[in-house]
Amino acid sequence: MRVKQFKAESKKLLDLMINSIYTNKEIFLRELISNASDAIDKLHFKGLTDESVGIKDSDFRILITIDKENRTLTVSDNGIGMTKDELENNLGTIAKSGSLDFKNENKDDSIDIIGQFGVGFYSAFMVASDVTVISRAFGSDESYKWESKGAEGYTIEPADKAEVGTDIILKIKEDTENDKYDAYIDEYGVSDIIKKYSDYVRYPIKMERTKSRVKPRPENAGDDYKDEYESYKELETINSMVPLWKRKKSEVKEEEYNDFYKSTFYDYEAPLKVISTSSEGMINYNALMFIPSHAPFDFYSKEYKKGLALYTSGVMIMEKCADLIPDYFGFVRGIVDSSDLSLNISREILQQDHQLKAISKNLEKKIKNELLALKDNDREKYEKFFKAFGRIIKFGVYSDYGMNKEKLQDLLIFYSASQKKMISLDEYVTSMPEGQKYIYFAAGDNIDRLSKLPASDSVLGHGYDLLLCTEDIDEFCLQMLRVYKEKEFKNINTGDLGLETEKEKEELKEETDKSKDLFDEMKKALNGKVADIRLSSRLKEHPVCLSSEGPVSIEMEKVLKNMPGSENVKSNKVLEINASHDIYKTLKDAFSEGNNEKVAKYSLLLYNQALLIEGLPIEDPVEYAKAVCELMK
Ligand code: ADP
Ligand code: MG
Repeated sequence: MRVKQFKAESKKLLDLMINSIYTNKEIFLRELISNASDAIDKLHFKGLTDESVGIKDSDFRILITIDKENRTLTVSDNGIGMTKDELENNLGTIAKSGSLDFKNENKDDSIDIIGQFGVGFYSAFMVASDVTVISRAFGSDESYKWESKGAEGYTIEPADKAEVGTDIILKIKEDTENDKYDAYIDEYGVSDIIKKYSDYVRYPIKMERTKSRVKPRPENAGDDYKDEYESYKELETINSMVPLWKRKKSEVKEEEYNDFYKSTFYDYEAPLKVISTSSEGMINYNALMFIPSHAPFDFYSKEYKKGLALYTSGVMIMEKCADLIPDYFGFVRGIVDSSDLSLNISREILQQDHQLKAISKNLEKKIKNELLALKDNDREKYEKFFKAFGRIIKFGVYSDYGMNKEKLQDLLIFYSASQKKMISLDEYVTSMPEGQKYIYFAAGDNIDRLSKLPASDSVLGHGYDLLLCTEDIDEFCLQMLRVYKEKEFKNINTGDLGLETEKEKEELKEETDKSKDLFDEMKKALNGKVADIRLSSRLKEHPVCLSSEGPVSIEMEKVLKNMPGSENVKSNKVLEINASHDIYKTLKDAFSEGNNEKVAKYSLLLYNQALLIEGLPIEDPVEYAKAVCELMK
């Protein structure tokens, strides 16, 4: 059976191409410059084996010319050019890519051709009402002019171009209310777009820039002569050409990295750390990443967008590719350049790409290792880093049900109460004395208060270290970790701290049982404020403290109070009493004398005191103050 060819409504197809592929009009310039670069690449490649090319590498250039009056923007190259047939085939056929054919015919590592889909050229019609291409192919003595107003079709006629290469002349559309085109015939507008997308195209992109200078002083100028200025034009190279990330690390000065970082990511401060890495083989990429010295002002807000800039063959594809970096390393800024990504036709978005996934996995590992190295080799710097971004690492431990906690746990540092500095979990565990069962921590808003907590005394008194956690996320993070190197985390204000011997435990229990009636009376007076009252081993000097039972600690209750939806989550509070404190005796005496009024009054006073020590507000401050004054009389 004869297979029939599909027919395409080329007008409709072109219309589609022009109006629905790209989200951003300004990329037309990226496409035309990429084509020019490809054309130069081809002639350069030819010149390697063909002496008649006769053009020096240093003479290759892409020239951008603006004619404001006539509203034209011209992109000229001195690359390989197109014959009449090639104009017909490459520009007259949608989705025909001469560049892809070239790449396939010349398998050579030194070629870094950008084109592949055969549609980029038509993006010119997004901004131009009329496109003229004048080209002279290498090795030909004829030149041709191709012209089109878009979907209606095109004409080709002989032209008169002296040099090999191609000029693409765009008649830029007039501004309308909704669509602005004037930037494309504006020196600054155009140079910005070149910088943004084509900064690392490897041939110079030159454009005439208007500059200002002081006029020479006339010879007969008097004392009151004031300098006069004149403007002049100068051809300038707009792009930086050689990407920093393709240069050898050893050949780039720290200053160059810093300047690049500051100007690319608009930061006034040099980065804390530069990470330059590349891979060849299964996946090819170069990456240049930076860890900022401080969090950007919007970092902890919804406005902040994580992501690395993505380039392919030196041309920018995406300004912030979020998939390249996990949330918990969202502070990393940088650039990834890879030549073998499967782009979609607009070269704006990527297809579901396993290359991209593999790259992001590698980068994540690299970032983590660099941070670990920083932690081990330059603690001061690491502390600076952690101050700025520790919170997001902790959040990474906590979120996604702790899926990434093992990956991140060694990046954590906390303040050690006994060493009086930040230490890692590993450092804590390594310096644990024999017999210590738990990793102790106290959570609250300031180090000073935490180190004075009644229970802190008793943990430190045992010769055990204590982590003082002052960020609201801390306890949630440690609870998610649950254990580190088989040691359980223990909030010193919850449950059994495992500090006393079996015998001590036994004695406490006996004494608690003896005072059962007293405690019942006290509970009655506290009217549901506490879940239990018991004697404590947590206390050394203080008469009382509060601890909690169950999954929600007192500190967590404080944090959750400020979160919509969790306002009513409460901890189960336990009032603990120091059995060797005089106050305990006073309570017992009052109770045995049958003075329940005194027991009730003291219970409330002690409870309020315990609240204050925990940094919690007391429910009725006026009542409390009155009761204290009463005692002073
Ligand atoms: P692609 O670049 O993906 O191949 P384009 O639509 O941008 O698709 O270009 C189509 C083809 O036209 C190119 O493959 C190339 O063969 C040819 N071409 C475009 N611009 C030029 C140029 N400046 N010089 C030489 N050939 C060009
Ligand atoms: Mg192209």
